[in-house]
Amino acid sequence: MTQPLQTIVALQDALRQLAQGEARLSGIPDWMQELHAQHAARSAEIAALEAQAEAAAKDRRAAEHQIEDAQERLKHYQQQISLVRTQREYGALLQEIDGVKASVKSLEEQAFAALERAEKAQQQLTEAREAFRELDARYAAELEKWEAEKPAVRADVDQVRGTVNDLRARVPPPLLSRFNRLFERYRGSALAPIRKLVARGGVMESWSCGACNYRVRPQVVVEIRTQGSLIECDSCKRILFVEETT
Ligand SMILES: [Zn+2]
Repeated sequence: MTQPLQTIVALQDALRQLAQGEARLSGIPDWMQELHAQHAARSAEIAALEAQAEAAAKDRRAAEHQIEDAQERLKHYQQQISLVRTQREYGALLQEIDGVKASVKSLEEQAFAALERAEKAQQQLTEAREAFRELDARYAAELEKWEAEKPAVRADVDQVRGTVNDLRARVPPPLLSRFNRLFERYRGSALAPIRKLVARGGVMESWSCGACNYRVRPQVVVEIRTQGSLIECDSCKRILFVEETT
């Protein structure tokens, strides 16, 4: 009969395998990582160029609106010329008109500069999109390949999930809840293997917790080995086990 300790050791292994499989399914496989990174970088560049083009177009529209407003004011001042009565009023009005004309000139320059920026960004965007096409197609092909591989990976994951359920059913409930608490607290490490340390010369042997390095008494190692006792590490409280090779 399998001891509960062996069962929870197997359960921890299966749970880790399950987590890996699930992460693999929801992520990008290793063989696609490089292309995925390239694809993401180029996509980000294109998005940045789109934002640049949009910002420039917006600047241009804003400058054009201001030009329209200024021209309205100009028209208004020009209509007032026939109404002025004194040389002083005339001079002040001319000054206003000059001011508005100067601002129209500078706004026109702004609008033109924004237009140039928009055109440049648009051109870069066209080139970037052109260059991206091949990479994008390759990426789509690899994604398709990965989609085709997924059912097999999913089947493996389902099998491991089945193993996890079988193992859980075999663990006595109080031990299972203790295991679950530790597994959650230590994010996937409810159990710790005992490590054997051999001092220089090979005479003195000592043991420690493989997770936190706290010392493990030799008697504990014997009890676990011979009876499969459930003993926790004095320091981190993980359940200790002896690896086959130890
Ligand atoms: Zn420990």
